[in-house]
Amino acid sequence: MSVYDNKVMDQPLKYVKGVGENRARLFAKLGLFTLGDLLHYFPRDYEDRSVYKPISEAADGESITVRIRFVSDIAESRPRRNLSLLKAQVTDGVSLMNVTWFNQSYIKQSIDISREYVFFGTVKRLGARVEIHNPVFEELEHSGNLTGRIVPVYSLTRGITQNMLRKILRNALDAVSDKLVDILPSSFRSQYRLAETAFAFEQIHFPTSMENMEMARRRLVFEELLLLQLGLFSIKGSNNNQNGIRFSPVDMEPFLKALPFRLTSAQERVLAEIKADMESDKRMNRLIQGDVGSGKTIMAVLAIYIAASSGYQSAFMAPTEILAEQHYRSIAPLLEKFGIKVGLLTGGMKKKEKETIKKEAGEGRLDVLIGTHAVLEDSTVFSRLGLVITDEQHRFGVRQRARLSQKGENPDLLVMTATPIPRTLSLVLYGDLDVSIIDTLPPDRKPIKTYVVDESMRDRVYQFIRKNIAEGRQAYIVCPLVEESEELEVESATGLVEKIREDALKGLRVGLIHGKMKSADKDEVMRKFSKGELDVLVSTTVIEVGVNVPNANIMVIENAERFGLAQLHQLRGRVGRGPYQSYCILFNQGKSHISRQRMEILAKSNDGFVISEKDLELRGPGDIFGVRQHGLPEFRIANLYRDMEVLKDVQKAAQYIMAEELLEKDEAWRPLARRVELMVKEKLQDLSMN
Ligand code: ADP
Ligand code: MG
Repeated sequence: MSVYDNKVMDQPLKYVKGVGENRARLFAKLGLFTLGDLLHYFPRDYEDRSVYKPISEAADGESITVRIRFVSDIAESRPRRNLSLLKAQVTDGVSLMNVTWFNQSYIKQSIDISREYVFFGTVKRLGARVEIHNPVFEELEHSGNLTGRIVPVYSLTRGITQNMLRKILRNALDAVSDKLVDILPSSFRSQYRLAETAFAFEQIHFPTSMENMEMARRRLVFEELLLLQLGLFSIKGSNNNQNGIRFSPVDMEPFLKALPFRLTSAQERVLAEIKADMESDKRMNRLIQGDVGSGKTIMAVLAIYIAASSGYQSAFMAPTEILAEQHYRSIAPLLEKFGIKVGLLTGGMKKKEKETIKKEAGEGRLDVLIGTHAVLEDSTVFSRLGLVITDEQHRFGVRQRARLSQKGENPDLLVMTATPIPRTLSLVLYGDLDVSIIDTLPPDRKPIKTYVVDESMRDRVYQFIRKNIAEGRQAYIVCPLVEESEELEVESATGLVEKIREDALKGLRVGLIHGKMKSADKDEVMRKFSKGELDVLVSTTVIEVGVNVPNANIMVIENAERFGLAQLHQLRGRVGRGPYQSYCILFNQGKSHISRQRMEILAKSNDGFVISEKDLELRGPGDIFGVRQHGLPEFRIANLYRDMEVLKDVQKAAQYIMAEELLEKDEAWRPLARRVELMVKEKLQDLSMN
């Protein structure tokens, strides 16, 4: 399938010199199918073999490039059955060095000891003796491919070696470098100081200097981010400055007085921002970002109140049924006191009930519809939709957001998220949104104490749960995330419940909730837990987002090493929602150092932003958390941690391109326009799912 819209780039990999059918299958494992894919398979590192060094200056363990002559023959020996050695002595004209090749007897034939060579390898010093083992070598006269230059280092897969990949890339570049089409017009390139495409591909793989590599990299990062940004704009529209509804100014005092608590100063500030947006002509397009438990829900309620006061309906979408139901239970009483009518619509409801609710929304008899994806269905219509809110925004695709807002005429938009999104990623995703931040927690919250434990602590953990329950609290136990298989998750949760009911937590009221249960049953269990009729709730990750039971103060997570840090932080956020000291206990069954390190981050910090940045640092750019969760393609070269500056330029450029409609109007922009189109089709499909 064409991804690059270019004959050269879309050529199957097997036709590249040095590849063939068999290796093409190996490359497929790396996700590489075409020549274009290969060119976009960027080095993970470089090795500088360009600077020659005399033997005498090489430190023990240092990798050096050195020009040598042989001062002895190459002697072969077989000290053991599976070991063959080639040994020789060489000189750089000043000092002597011993070279040994292990199990590479074929080398003997390819070296002519009367000629000069370049070696690259790691030097070992043993007293006065200098040794080099298995050096890479090239005859001086023909050097410059593997030595005497900066060489790329790639991630490999079984059956493909560094040198093989280097040669194949060299062949590929030689075959196409004069046929590459630059998708960025030259005036644009000079405006943003971007290297040409041919230069960029050559220098990213075979840099003649690190400066050139940086120039190449900047160009390629720019291109990658620009394609993504333009793709996103083309899906959701970039128009941030549409006119919207002008809601009438409302006196909030009576409503605020009726709440069970006073707003925090951060909530007051966000309310002022929402109010200003809603009362202006501009369409509100606002993201509320606040850590778990910071009190985002009430902001939605206040916005709904403003909309209803002007006679407009609101839609409030949550990612799970549990959450939609919880919102309904907590929000409806607050609003109904003021005559605002609230309805609930979830996929799991009976057909009849759904129809009734939809009818009421369509006829304008409901002021607020809270629900899951069911709210998006074509059969759900509103009579006067003025405000659209999505909770836990990261769970929804960009397309879904767009779809919901199409149900009214330019309704105002409010999205809420606790997922701490690295600043760079949030710019890519929400570049066109205004952001409000709730940066303080409600008063009397005590920081959650987090402990990383292993199996040896299990009994003590159960005792600890018993003690807290005896004091009137409740506990969650979350079961392992089993990748790709909800069934297995359900199985392990069910198994655990049976075990602890009979044993460790005998006599306590233990409930079970998982994604495969009927929604009425889930609702029933959740309701019991919120009312305190259950002491312990064993669950799969269905409770990850939003669930609010302030009396619960212990969160135990089994196999915590299998979760992402952001997700652990979300889960932990289910406790610490009331005045009680709360605890999060992470069972770490992982053995690796990095898993331990990641857990420790969580134990040390309660701050979602800090956690996300650290996670990003640890996992590196290839596996940026949140990226996949947001349905974005993985980055091939951009690093959201490093490339903030480039991203800023990209956003400026993208805004300009959209505003001037260059992709539609201007011939010079056709290649870029086609690539954006293809990318949306190929890579951004996922944004509409979830
Ligand atoms: P989140 O931001 O994670 O969605 P919620 O909106 O569910 O958090 O709020 C968490 C808890 O804090 C709820 O029980 C809510 O009633 C309570 N809460 C929110 N704002 C305040 C406040 N200003 N003072 C005291 N409690 C508050
Ligand atoms: Mg919430």
